Amino acid sequence: MTENYHEIEDQIIMNYKYSYGGQSRFFIELRDNKRILGSKCKECGTTYCPPRVACAKCYKPTEWVTIKDVGEIKVSTLVWYSTSAFIQYIPYAVGYIQLEGASTAINQGIFSESLVPSKIKAGKKVRAVFKKEREGKITDFFFVPIDEYEMWINKPEYEGGGASDG
Ligand SMILES: [Zn+2]
Repeated sequence: MTENYHEIEDQIIMNYKYSYGGQSRFFIELRDNKRILGSKCKECGTTYCPPRVACAKCYKPTEWVTIKDVGEIKVSTLVWYSTSAFIQYIPYAVGYIQLEGASTAINQGIFSESLVPSKIKAGKKVRAVFKKEREGKITDFFFVPIDEYEMWINKPEYEGGGASDG
């Protein structure tokens, strides 16, 4: 005989914080200065974006460097299914973008007014657009095809970055 368990609907509300640790400055610069930082190995010169506290090749500490807000798509895909946080943006693209001056690529959203695969394929140039209301999160910015940049930053909710010349 199976037991008939009594269940009651309830709710847990939990407030919590988490730390970005050694990567904190990357997120603070996004929020306060619309600037994308990377980290450069003092030993071998590898420049990481997203930043690393220590070099993946020689394990030496890195130092902060400003990275240009323009780069090239290395790989991308279209997104048709998402969590509730991004469902309003569907369809959009995500990709790995290698910013000028960086040795590595950063995974980030790519938005386009006319989202067709030819606009977001590997080799295409993109530029970062920042939200006006920034929280110090990776979602404070996204990339757009470089020919759409002026159009995006003229929208009231977005603006251009602070370090296009690196
Ligand atoms: Zn190194």
